[in-house]
Amino acid sequence: MKDTIKQLEAQSRFLELDFNQREAIIRQVSDYSQSYLENIARASTYTMPDHIKDFNQVANIAENGIPMEQILALLSEHVDNVGINVASGRYVAYIPGGGLFPSSLGDYLAGIANRYAGWFDAGPGAVQVENALIRWMASEIGYPAQASGNLTSGGSIANLIAIITARDTHQISGDNIPKSVIYVTSQAHHCIDKALHVSGLQACIKRLIVVDSAQRMDAVALENAIQADKQAGLNPFLVIGNGGTTNTGSVDPLSDIGEIAHAHDCWFHVDGAYGGLFMLCPEGHEALRGIDTSDSLVIDPHKTLFLPYGLGTVLVRDRQKQIAAFRASADYMQDILDDDSELSPNDLSPELTKHFRGLRLWLPLKLFGVHPFRAALSEKIHLARYFYEQMQSADGFELGTYPDLSVVTYRYCPKRGSADEFNQRLMQSIQQEGRVFISSTRVDGKFVLRAAILSFRTHLDEIDEVITVLKRHAQALEQTS
Ligand SMILES: *Cc1c(COP(=O)(O)O)cnc(C)c1O
Repeated sequence: MKDTIKQLEAQSRFLELDFNQREAIIRQVSDYSQSYLENIARASTYTMPDHIKDFNQVANIAENGIPMEQILALLSEHVDNVGINVASGRYVAYIPGGGLFPSSLGDYLAGIANRYAGWFDAGPGAVQVENALIRWMASEIGYPAQASGNLTSGGSIANLIAIITARDTHQISGDNIPKSVIYVTSQAHHCIDKALHVSGLQACIKRLIVVDSAQRMDAVALENAIQADKQAGLNPFLVIGNGGTTNTGSVDPLSDIGEIAHAHDCWFHVDGAYGGLFMLCPEGHEALRGIDTSDSLVIDPHKTLFLPYGLGTVLVRDRQKQIAAFRASADYMQDILDDDSELSPNDLSPELTKHFRGLRLWLPLKLFGVHPFRAALSEKIHLARYFYEQMQSADGFELGTYPDLSVVTYRYCPKRGSADEFNQRLMQSIQQEGRVFISSTRVDGKFVLRAAILSFRTHLDEIDEVITVLKRHAQALEQTS
């Protein structure tokens, strides 16, 4: 028996690297990261993978390992330099991704010590870091200090947690599901539908409240709809506002909506995954007035605090409601004390074991302080306004509504032929070229182009380049069509 164990030990010890081995691969990973980041200002925003045939080398998980050098070469060729480069400052499509460098080091350090960030008693420091971040975000938003929250993998899961909390608070289950009503607009993010499905609420009545010409919820229509539903004997319980839509960056009239929702005893949820954290700068604070009247709120540091993907946040005004929706226990957890001096993530989300994801936000905040984040967010709003004004005076371009935050919609009006088709070709030729990356959407049924400005790497030079590229491609297409 012991011989067998010793033999196995000799093999399993390969899993622990010694000091020199660690030193060698840390150096290789560091060199790789440095050269990647040194090149990012020049790198293409889009690269077609032309070597899919060789992907076997990446996909093959073999009995024996290969050297780090080869692994990094595979990563570079097959992963890090193909597809859309969301970390580029010239990427202004969809919602831009971030990638603050210290945040990746936060992930690294969280993995090294692997503190347990699920229960306060197990990893008191780790849980306190996450709770401190939640309290900081709550105070920036204007939530009470007693609010609870959870650091999630992203905005979709954060919305799910909020909706489940609203569901349980209003005791929406069984027979009352089909007569309970949820109020949204056509501009709600599609993860809201997913959350309703996952939480068993898809059989609720979903009222699409009309929007104005700037895609903002019409508060009067909301009030009328709730009253009509009450008179019809239905159960209005949830109003979902947008703190910046993904589509056009529009902010619903949150103060008015909050007042109406509360007057009718409805839960008021705000999806601020894209826009909520603009509360850090004065222009955003102004645009998002009333966001602090919500009962729950989603914000996404992996969008609006420029982090690499993997961090969303849900805040809930009344912590007891979130605990009631998510606290559970089991015999094998009996040693865990219920110490309510600090909330534990496990009592506030569906997760048990979780990544210590707070470190990826805490490290950059400690290192930089909040100040440069406020400036960067203010800068993005000003860049969107600048882009709007420049494009307004550019020949042949037509602009959507003036931006509430940092998304601008626009399109080219060709002299001949279909505008929808022209703009689609315009977008495709720009994407293929790879200098800048833009995307499109539909507003009132029309095909329009979007510029979403949210990367910490996007500054005036990058926006000027987007404008130059747009004008150049539009002219070239106009001449050939
Ligand atoms: C991005 C986004 C979501 C979804 O968040 P993920 O982090 O992508 O899961 C939800 N709502 C809005 C308004 C968004 O922009």
